[in-house]
Amino acid sequence: MEQLELLWELQKHEDYLKIIKKKLEDLAKTSYIETMTIRIETLEQGLNDKEKSLERNSELFRKNNLALKDLNYQLSKIEKELYSGVVTDLKQLDYMDKESEVIRDDINKLEIDMLSIMEDMDEIRQEIEKIKIEHDKNKERFKESILEYEKITNELREEARKEMDFIYDISSKIEKDIYEKYSSIKENKGYAIAVIKEDECSGCHVIIPIFLLDKVKAKEEIVQCENCRRILYYSTNP
Ligand SMILES: [Zn+2]
Repeated sequence: MEQLELLWELQKHEDYLKIIKKKLEDLAKTSYIETMTIRIETLEQGLNDKEKSLERNSELFRKNNLALKDLNYQLSKIEKELYSGVVTDLKQLDYMDKESEVIRDDINKLEIDMLSIMEDMDEIRQEIEKIKIEHDKNKERFKESILEYEKITNELREEARKEMDFIYDISSKIEKDIYEKYSSIKENKGYAIAVIKEDECSGCHVIIPIFLLDKVKAKEEIVQCENCRRILYYSTNP
């Protein structure tokens, strides 16, 4: 019976369409694109933070440099006075000597500070370079992934369209009452046609009586399982 074969084809295409739709849903759910977007944004944020920190350090370095110039100026002024012979008061000379000592200490500390700022800045610059490389790589990968994602999605959509055409075509060839029976079983049981495997209904695993089995094999009419009411189908190629 051609109608039964049509029903069988219909179920196969409906099943396949379901698989394609599931794949499309899963693809949308994996949210790889979302994850990548977040990763790229995080890197950009990190880059931004590092650049700000570099700016802060460079500002600090500039201020320290001014302070250093000022201290050097003070020191040279004191030393000039100290060795000029103008000041003869011993107490005054002693005071100036100590003062120059303090300034020298300050200069020393400041220079050490500035050296450490320079080292920090070097480190930050290297980190920025690393982030930039990682960022570029990610952007490239992301672009490729989006293309790949679009390609797969388009292919699946195209396949789904083809399956829908098949389903429409097959359905239009099925007699109305048979199609209605198929639909109502499908609605109740999830799927309407059960293949017979080792004389069992694969839908409910009940043994099919011989007389029913012969009827199904003859393929002259639509035969339903006495237990689950599914339409029975006997496949010659397992
Ligand atoms: Zn059954």
